[in-house]
Amino acid sequence: MPRAPASEDDEMRDLSCDQSVDLLDMYVEGTLSPEMRADMQRHLGGCADCLALAEQYERLPRTEEVEQRLRATVAAARRWRH
Ligand SMILES: [Zn+2]
Repeated sequence: MPRAPASEDDEMRDLSCDQSVDLLDMYVEGTLSPEMRADMQRHLGGCADCLALAEQYERLPRTEEVEQRLRATVAAARRWRH
């Protein structure tokens, strides 16, 4: 992902749930950059679905099956909203 150029705008980079799920394993492992980590925390603070996923993610062994189930859960949650 390209780094956004420094901007004078106070632009909130709101993550979508898709992006959040993509970043979740790095977030849990603590390998995100501080900026991305802050974005994740902001998203998790306002998104109960992804927060619940993050909590599950920390507890479950990460297999492909688990990841697919988490993604399906997010996809279903998004369908409910729209
Ligand atoms: Zn979310």
